[in-house]
Amino acid sequence: MSLSRNQVLGEMGLSPQWILRETRAVARGEKRAKSSILPAPMHKAEQFLAGVAEKMPASGAERSAPIAQLGWDGLRQRIAGCRDCALCGERKQAVAGVGDENADWLFVGEGPGAEEDARGEPFVGPAGKLLDAMLAAIDLTRGEDVYIANAVKCRPPSNRTPEAAEMAACAPYLKRQIALLQPRLIVLLGRAAVHALLGEDGSLASLRGKPLAYRDGERDIPVVVTYHPAYLLRTLPDKAKSWEDLCRARALMRSLKP
Ligand code: SF4
Repeated sequence: MSLSRNQVLGEMGLSPQWILRETRAVARGEKRAKSSILPAPMHKAEQFLAGVAEKMPASGAERSAPIAQLGWDGLRQRIAGCRDCALCGERKQAVAGVGDENADWLFVGEGPGAEEDARGEPFVGPAGKLLDAMLAAIDLTRGEDVYIANAVKCRPPSNRTPEAAEMAACAPYLKRQIALLQPRLIVLLGRAAVHALLGEDGSLASLRGKPLAYRDGERDIPVVVTYHPAYLLRTLPDKAKSWEDLCRARALMRSLKP
């Protein structure tokens, strides 16, 4: 990342009040074993994922089990050829995700937009530039200890919000990405990502700052909720709230014990 600190804060529209004093090593914390346990349960996530199987046709429910056995290469191939919901109809390509497959940090957005659909990478264009600035503000860099994915892997027409059935159909892919990645912390960008992963359909404002977690097998992975960069580009005052969320995420990462 070549942006200077002032450039980063400028990108987020928060200069000069965003002042980061801590070093990258402190911000990211010591590399710890991936078996960290967070005590807070997230029962709605289990309810939502159980609902996924109910909403999907029988053949769809049956597809979840083999997806859960795939490695990274097999998962990417499966996503690239997937035609399991209507979103496959207008996509140029499916966008699986990008980044460090051993990352401690997972950022999850909503779905690919036009530029992502064209380039095959999540968060490019203006929203991607802002996400990179958000990462840099907490001393993270795309591709280094960070993995970025979306709730749905194919572009919704006209960049509309994905429908619940589409998010349900795509959920096994995100769930498998999390199982393979074993992140220490998940940052959910926007309400659709929260709904897709946690089954929470409340307002983002009501969920920010709450202790949330995603249940992956026997492990609860802490979750921090914040605004989607595309929303922040339209709603400049909420950039300050997003900064609060990122600081909370950074503090939470530091607090995780092996
Ligand atoms: S959005 Fe997900 S479930 Fe739907 S076609 Fe694309 S990869 Fe398959």
